[in-house]
Amino acid sequence: MAKPTQNVDCEAVFVYSEDQLGYRFSETHPFNQKRLTLTVDLLEKVNALSKKQIVTPRIATDEELALAHDTRYIDAVKRASLPDCKSEEFEAYGIGTEDTPLFVGMHEASARLVGSTLTAVDYVMEGKAKHALNIGGGLHHGFRGKASGFCVYNDSSVAIRYMQEKYNARVLYIDTDAHHGDGVQWCFYDDPTVCTISIHETGRYLFPGTGSITERGSGEGYGTSFNFPIDAFTEDESFIDIYRTAFREIVEHFKPDVILTQNGADAHYFDPLTHLYGSIEIYKEIPKLAHELAHEFCDGKWIGVGGGGYDIWRVVPRAWSLLWLEMSNQQIPKGPLPSDWIERWQEESPVPLVSTWEDPSPLYEAIPRKVEITEKNRQMLEKALYIIRNEKKLTT
Ligand SMILES: [Zn+2]
Ligand SMILES: [Zn+2]
Repeated sequence: MAKPTQNVDCEAVFVYSEDQLGYRFSETHPFNQKRLTLTVDLLEKVNALSKKQIVTPRIATDEELALAHDTRYIDAVKRASLPDCKSEEFEAYGIGTEDTPLFVGMHEASARLVGSTLTAVDYVMEGKAKHALNIGGGLHHGFRGKASGFCVYNDSSVAIRYMQEKYNARVLYIDTDAHHGDGVQWCFYDDPTVCTISIHETGRYLFPGTGSITERGSGEGYGTSFNFPIDAFTEDESFIDIYRTAFREIVEHFKPDVILTQNGADAHYFDPLTHLYGSIEIYKEIPKLAHELAHEFCDGKWIGVGGGGYDIWRVVPRAWSLLWLEMSNQQIPKGPLPSDWIERWQEESPVPLVSTWEDPSPLYEAIPRKVEITEKNRQMLEKALYIIRNEKKLTT
């Protein structure tokens, strides 16, 4: 499956260790890092991930966490990591809640996911690899002083500050998780040297409710925050249209040194928490353009992180495998998934696994409102990009 010779200009590393599975709220919590095991196993079974490509992550230090988090909050997470502590004490910090319950070792597990993204950053920024992936990261709802939506520490926010301080980099962050990338957006809302883009299901009926096109940044950062809220039931064509147009125009406008992509895999029709109608095709298109733009504008510098993704059996392993295959410049496979992968996991899966790289066809019944939704998304796109298109018109 893997191409026999790798392009040296396009070397990629996969930051991973089984310790990342320690970020675990409970047996029944929807955020389930077993998806990392499923993905790694799938990649190994198609010979697309070698030992040589895997890099063991480190744990972020307190000082690094403090780049994007209050020290009081970090201390609270540490105390909340001990056995026998009481949930009520921590609710003000967003932990010990129904969404983000306490678990023993929470601080270390969360700091490891941040350290994993920092490991990816160092590989790319020091030129040891062109691209690096941490599917264990992408915890985009974490705030400066508060956990939210299954996210304790925000690895992307810490990583962006780290890239600014250590490498003096101008960072573009793009988030294609079905939920608004609120934590990262608010962290850099007034910072003109960081551009955040989020394409997500409108917050009308979905957590966290923010991410409207009018959230454009504040003060000096005005015009560097972009939101593309798409309608529930949006299908592939419209999703990809918005993504391709927005991403390219904003990169051309902002001219980043490095691109950080958050690759939540919860915009798929099968995802139980959201209402978008994406198919596996979007997970081929998303990394393809990121890869292209990174080489075109950033000398290849591209860091990818994971994110949401709650159909851990039928969607996430294929979606994140496709992400790695694109990043590591390997051929995108077609047809059946390896039978030994299916055999190994079918027993544990509560649903019949999808047995091919493609989705079953048809994936769902045709949507009567397709034309209306596509048109609405198009109008949203025009409004959201008006600010840079207008500026372009004035300067040319
Ligand atoms: Zn490349
Ligand atoms: Zn999500």
